[in-house]
Amino acid sequence: MKPGTGLKEIGMVLAAAELEGLSAYVVRDGDSVAVCMPGACGAEFESRISRLPGVESAAAFARGFKIVSREFRSGNTVVNVSGVRIGDGGTVIIAGPCAVESREQLMRSAELMRECGAHMLRGGAYKPRSSPYSFQGLKEEGLRILSEARERFGMPIVTEVMSPSDVPIVAEHADMLQVGSRNMQNTALLEALGSAGRPVLLKRGMMSTVEELLLAAEYIASAGNRSIVLCERGIRTFEHVTRNTLDVAAVAVLKDLSHLPVIVDPSHATGRRKYVKAAALAGVAAGADGLLVEAHPSPEDALCDGEQSLSPPEFADLCASVQRVAEAVRPAGSRGVGGEL
Ligand code: PEP
Ligand code: MN
Repeated sequence: MKPGTGLKEIGMVLAAAELEGLSAYVVRDGDSVAVCMPGACGAEFESRISRLPGVESAAAFARGFKIVSREFRSGNTVVNVSGVRIGDGGTVIIAGPCAVESREQLMRSAELMRECGAHMLRGGAYKPRSSPYSFQGLKEEGLRILSEARERFGMPIVTEVMSPSDVPIVAEHADMLQVGSRNMQNTALLEALGSAGRPVLLKRGMMSTVEELLLAAEYIASAGNRSIVLCERGIRTFEHVTRNTLDVAAVAVLKDLSHLPVIVDPSHATGRRKYVKAAALAGVAAGADGLLVEAHPSPEDALCDGEQSLSPPEFADLCASVQRVAEAVRPAGSRGVGGEL
């Protein structure tokens, strides 16, 4: 719609869609307003809509994702997680253990991560493990420990939510909700996150394409939540020397196709501590807006993903190198241009 269009004109567009049997919805983005009509097609309909008063243009979206596409919003989206701005031109570092194991372990992690320069704390309370006999997480108790760490160390928390029914309780304790790789196409969960009232960290499915990741993000956005950060965490390939294969080009592709911030998880991408730094730096060089890194006060004692968790000195070294790469690849003064939602 043209800037400053009134409700009357929007209503006329909605009525035209209804006549066609389409259920249209209005999407507002700051001052701009668009009307989406899933299922609309045909040049004749398009030209009829484009002639209605207040309509700037009518065009078919090239792909199945719309709200999250660059076509829909040309500037970069900045996702504000309790004061930490992701996508604003800086490199946000989210770090912590794979799982919350105990109060002591998490407090120690938070202290160390903050000291090394992390902006946010991660830690799973609900763990999606490949084996039902592995440690499954402390669940609600883990959430309470995370809340306490946030209060004590002043760092926003991101933690995974695995089922739609857990969304309210996780949203009560966490600043950002993570959708894990195994749940990327759990559409019931994605829809539930539409009304979670918290930003979402959406991890790429280990066997999902870039387009499927963006379609998953579209589920959340179309359900009402546009504060989404995408995460490239490695995909399954024939290669076994690393746990997964970091699709570093996907960072550039996602930034091209979507206005959403993109971060890289070098820990699950490589699965081995000694390769994490290389993958992290590659992600930052490719244009990632941040990193999600597993680090543990004593990785050899970790109950989950110890082999890929960095020790505190390794994490400190990674943070220092990330700053140098970020400075080298980012033109001075390049901040987000799209603004916050
Ligand atoms: C995690 O971040 O701890 C995790 C389980 O990651 P993924 O869903 O990418 O495997
Ligand atoms: Mn993990």
